[in-house]
Amino acid sequence: MKLPMTGGCLCGKVRYEISAQPVSTANCHCRSCQKSVGAPHLAIFVVPTSSFTVMGNYREYITIAASGNKMHRNFCPECGTSLFVINSGFPQFRPVSAMTLDDPSDYKPEKDIWVADAQPWDVMDPELPKFAGNPQ
Ligand SMILES: [Zn+2]
Ligand SMILES: [Zn+2]
Repeated sequence: MKLPMTGGCLCGKVRYEISAQPVSTANCHCRSCQKSVGAPHLAIFVVPTSSFTVMGNYREYITIAASGNKMHRNFCPECGTSLFVINSGFPQFRPVSAMTLDDPSDYKPEKDIWVADAQPWDVMDPELPKFAGNPQ
């Protein structure tokens, strides 16, 4: 993907910049992601925390993952856009919502995860590896 990657929320009050390539990408079909983004799955990419800079005030809502880790789901308090996650088990990485990129067309999912929670009507790329939960 082209660097730096830039993105932000719907209203533009929270912006971010990323200076490193993603270490992984996925479409997450878990129920928490479905609810928090209001969509059948969350297209996400993971970057090193050291490469991720956020500008603006955001708020978090914490969910507990199947692993027991706390998922700090960070969103814009003005427009509600879900932007990025801090996973308490992996603070060195930031999962970022791909659809908040200024140019999401550059994003490519490499796998489907938590497909056990996937909606029966959601359409998945048959070429991508599928994992019932987290890939291990
Ligand atoms: Zn906003
Ligand atoms: Zn998820």
